[in-house]
Amino acid sequence: MNEKQKNDFKEQIRKEIESLSETITGLAENTGPVEPDVAIGRLSRLDTMLNQGINEASIAKGRERLRKLEATLSRVDDDEEFGFCSECGDPIPLARLLAIPECITCVECAE
Ligand SMILES: [Zn+2]
Repeated sequence: MNEKQKNDFKEQIRKEIESLSETITGLAENTGPVEPDVAIGRLSRLDTMLNQGINEASIAKGRERLRKLEATLSRVDDDEEFGFCSECGDPIPLARLLAIPECITCVECAE
């Protein structure tokens, strides 16, 4: 990656971090304790709890990705480490990095 590609890449990661943070905040707002006395009936309450379970799973997943993106961002300037597969040490193709910025393995090792 040359300097320009690196800067574009970092910019892309920052944007993803930003939109992911917004998504997580949005999901978190919908996740609170289900009030037992809310007059929405038993089934609706189950529905709500089910949806919250899905929300919480999405939030956990989002936070995990956020952590990886931030780690990637701090590694981009490390020419020794960044862009190489953590398993086999082969360079990770630029196209793969652009598609999945947080990936740390090549296609073969990811499978
Ligand atoms: Zn590999």
